[in-house]
Amino acid sequence: MLNRKMDTVYASDVLRQLDNVLIVTHVRPDGDALGAALGLGALMRGNLRRAQVLLPDPLPEKYLPLVRNADFLTEFPAGGLTQYDALIVLDCARNDRVAMGSGTDYPPQDISILNIDHHGDNNVQAEWSCVVPDAAATSAILVRIAALIGWKMTPQAATFFYLGIMTDTGAFRFSNTSPDTHRLVASLLENNADHDQVIQAVYFSKSRNQQLFEADMVQNYSKVDFDGRYAWAALPDEFFRKYGFSMRDGEMLIELLRELSGVKIAVLLYLAGGQVKVSLRSKDPACPVGPLARKLGGGGHEMAAGVTLKTSDLNSAAAMLREEVGKLL
Ligand code: AMP
Ligand code: MN
Ligand code: MN
Repeated sequence: MLNRKMDTVYASDVLRQLDNVLIVTHVRPDGDALGAALGLGALMRGNLRRAQVLLPDPLPEKYLPLVRNADFLTEFPAGGLTQYDALIVLDCARNDRVAMGSGTDYPPQDISILNIDHHGDNNVQAEWSCVVPDAAATSAILVRIAALIGWKMTPQAATFFYLGIMTDTGAFRFSNTSPDTHRLVASLLENNADHDQVIQAVYFSKSRNQQLFEADMVQNYSKVDFDGRYAWAALPDEFFRKYGFSMRDGEMLIELLRELSGVKIAVLLYLAGGQVKVSLRSKDPACPVGPLARKLGGGGHEMAAGVTLKTSDLNSAAAMLREEVGKLL
């Protein structure tokens, strides 16, 4: 594979020549993964291309109203990959996080791959890679590329890209928000992105059960250390069982820790597939969490990163994280 690195101008030249693509994203998709993948699918179909989106993992409940009318596959296409001109991988930084569906390894051998992402540590294997770490979301890169190609922004695509930018910036709260982010969002609204539908789904659709789960987490599981600079919570499986709640819908839980005054670093630990998954967030650029996630074998952005540890012991993982975070603070 060539693995050619390129900017958005070159990526737009590659994309404009593709006529029939399969679009994939990362496992356990978040708002940007869904927004980028379904947005690009809608955009290409709206501009007389053939595009299919593959989303094999269950989707977070709150996004279901948004995807109701979207077209996507939940299983690896029966006809294989040779029917497509290319595979497009979005918002995914590592080979082992690409969601290809049952038993299909990444990278597949029989197709060209275009990788578009905003994780600075992206090392996905692909023919062509367009990685823009300054972009607030992969959806934002796609809006830029669509304009470079001169594609018409359809209302459905605009709504999905709006979702991706909205969720990856935490509704413009996070430090990845820039003047350019607002310019792109303005252009999406001008192209009839459905602001109300996105905001209702993302910020005004919490179940009462989730609200009770969150209250219990704050009361009984969250801890604050190092003079209030570190907030963390380790959530055992039985706590999730008590509410019938799962991390599939927990993308924003860690914000309950980060939002505290004085907190610089927030960490959430829970079990995923029998291993401890750690989410890390910072709100002080002087203490980024990307380097710690990478040191532990994970990755992500400087201010929002994650790692899956090769242990099932939540308490010892929490103690190790506390010690590592102590060195950063
Ligand atoms: P999360 O805490 O799962 O919301 O992830 C925050 C960021 O960290 C995402 O943008 C991911 O790219 C990255 N990340 C999360 N989990 C992992 C992991 N196990 N390995 C590498 N990167 C990860
Ligand atoms: Mn993502
Ligand atoms: Mn993203």
